Amino acid sequence: MIRERTLRARDKLVGKLPATGELLRGSLLERTVRHTKGCPKCARGEGHRVFVLTVTYAGGRTQQFSVRRERVAEVRRWLDNYQKLKQAIEDICELNHELLRPERIEGVRGRRDD
Ligand SMILES: [Zn+2]
Repeated sequence: MIRERTLRARDKLVGKLPATGELLRGSLLERTVRHTKGCPKCARGEGHRVFVLTVTYAGGRTQQFSVRRERVAEVRRWLDNYQKLKQAIEDICELNHELLRPERIEGVRGRRDD
């Protein structure tokens, strides 16, 4: 019973996995760049808003990619897909822990389904 329920829950999670290659790991940061001279906009104190994707690798190395404004929405969607996929993987792993439990633990609770 518990096993069946766990398998059903796992199938449901697998069915919800974003089936897409549109995945990005990292954080999208917004920064303001200010030129020290020769830029009227910066002279007025406005500066320029830029978006940067920061990706951290094992060992703490990070890499940054500048993202054009017109691609920000797309990048946010790809980051969101990655987070959803990652969460679903974690949830599936938790369910698989249930499936690894020795049968007799279920038996203690009174197994009657087989
Ligand atoms: Zn400027």
